[in-house]
Amino acid sequence: MTGKPSGFDVDLFVIGAGSGGVRAARIAAGYGARVMIAEEFRVGGTCVIRGCVPKKLLVYASRFAHEFEDAVGFGWSAPTQTFDWRTLIANKDREIARLEAAYTANLEKSKVEIVKCRAVLEDAHTVRLVESGARVKAAHVLVATGGTPNFGAHIPGLEHVMSSNEAFKLHELPRRIVVQGGGYIAVEFACIFHGLGSEVTLVYRGENILRGFDDDVREHLRTEMTRRGLRVLCGHTVTAVAKTAEGLETELSDGTKIVSDRVMFAVGRKPNVENLGLEALGITRAEHGGIAVDEYSRTSVPHIYAVGDVTNRINLTPVAIREGSAVSETLFGGRPIKVDHTNIPTAVFSDPEVGVVGLTETQARARFARTDIYRAMFRPLKASLSGRDTTVLIKLVVDGTTDRVAGCHIVGEGAAEMIQMTAIAVKMGATKADFDATMALHPTAAEELVTLRTKSASYVREAAE
Ligand SMILES: Cc1cc2nc3c(=O)[nH]c(=O)nc-3n(C[C@H](O)[C@H](O)[C@H](O)COP(=O)(O)OP(=O)(O)OC[C@H]3O[C@@H](n4cnc5c(N)ncnc54)[C@H](O)[C@@H]3O)c2cc1C
Repeated sequence: MTGKPSGFDVDLFVIGAGSGGVRAARIAAGYGARVMIAEEFRVGGTCVIRGCVPKKLLVYASRFAHEFEDAVGFGWSAPTQTFDWRTLIANKDREIARLEAAYTANLEKSKVEIVKCRAVLEDAHTVRLVESGARVKAAHVLVATGGTPNFGAHIPGLEHVMSSNEAFKLHELPRRIVVQGGGYIAVEFACIFHGLGSEVTLVYRGENILRGFDDDVREHLRTEMTRRGLRVLCGHTVTAVAKTAEGLETELSDGTKIVSDRVMFAVGRKPNVENLGLEALGITRAEHGGIAVDEYSRTSVPHIYAVGDVTNRINLTPVAIREGSAVSETLFGGRPIKVDHTNIPTAVFSDPEVGVVGLTETQARARFARTDIYRAMFRPLKASLSGRDTTVLIKLVVDGTTDRVAGCHIVGEGAAEMIQMTAIAVKMGATKADFDATMALHPTAAEELVTLRTKSASYVREAAE
């Protein structure tokens, strides 16, 4: 590439066209910056190609089974259903290809130059395009390379194990599957496969699934999943996987053996930091393995920024998008923006669904002098006719001194949609009294959020010794 008058070929070079990179590129170009973006796989990144979007499509597919069952109590006679995995995957692939094309078109419309290849850093202002060997001089570089599935420590037979990446491309629905992991991806895939008719065993080494979530949420979801027929084995790990005539034989830490058609690990993800040229440049890594950045997403090397999963802060699409946007607003829009990482709502698209925002009870009790807990567990109205054995959990965690609602935790149908709206109130600093002053909308499950009159518990923090 030939140097432009500024001495640079571009004002911003973005490595990785995922959630964070695409947003940063488009915002920067909107301010008139010359922007180039490199993508080694598919434009759209994890979220669009093999994360949030395809996953939610599979979640929708998996929930019809319950709808068919529930319909009977409402007078419907449901003919025998059949499910065709290949149709689902083909339709999903078509939608993902459409989205990829839309992302590409939007970048082009914004005058962002796309290079479909791997890119690495050569020095603080030079990016090398691996395929052609071309070098691009950039005033600023944004590393937005995302993350990759982690398989944990090596075990015999690891070559038979798949990650979420492969789960999206299976040719057939596994009749039996073992999923190892306790985070949201493991739990979601366990529920997807179960809903679609697979016999699922979820194996997790910890004492309960969804580490980091409120303990009541963890317990409630596990109970509900078990009620629906999912086998959840906590306190176990997979020690080996062997191919046998009957299928894949998974051996657990207590010697138990489970035969299945597929074994999937979702035991965490690692930031894509390898072979990018970071070490040679002296770009500091954080303790958790991601690229260390300050509140403006600046790395330890001037002019080089990093956003999204590669920084391993909060690995969610909207967070990567905000971070990418903030970098470009700061650099090219003359509006320095720090991203606020507090009170980020999050969901687990399990069956039933989980939606949470803010502090867990444990976090609140460690932080506040007094913590008030309001909790409702009730049978949803729909279950009265469907006959489904299920309960919804709604829990508010309140700072007892200021009355502010510090956390909200929901397990039940529609939890994700509910929590997005509740997050606005929590972010604004709404108090429990504000919740109480809001008129209920009847009959809904969400009305419980504003009708929780009685405290279920109140805790006073003991003074430190
Ligand atoms: C199964 C699954 C389900 C998920 N569900 C949700 C959800 O429901 N909600 C949610 O908010 N988040 C979800 N996530 C997380 C979400 O997908 C990520 O947080 C988000 O995609 C991060 O965006 P990013 O820009 O940091 O990276 P990515 O979107 O991963 O994009 C990085 C891009 O960089 C490319 N790349 C890497 N190295 C190079 C290189 N050297 N040169 C060129 N290109 C390179 C990669 O190919 C990739 O396209 C899910 C993730 C997974 C895996």
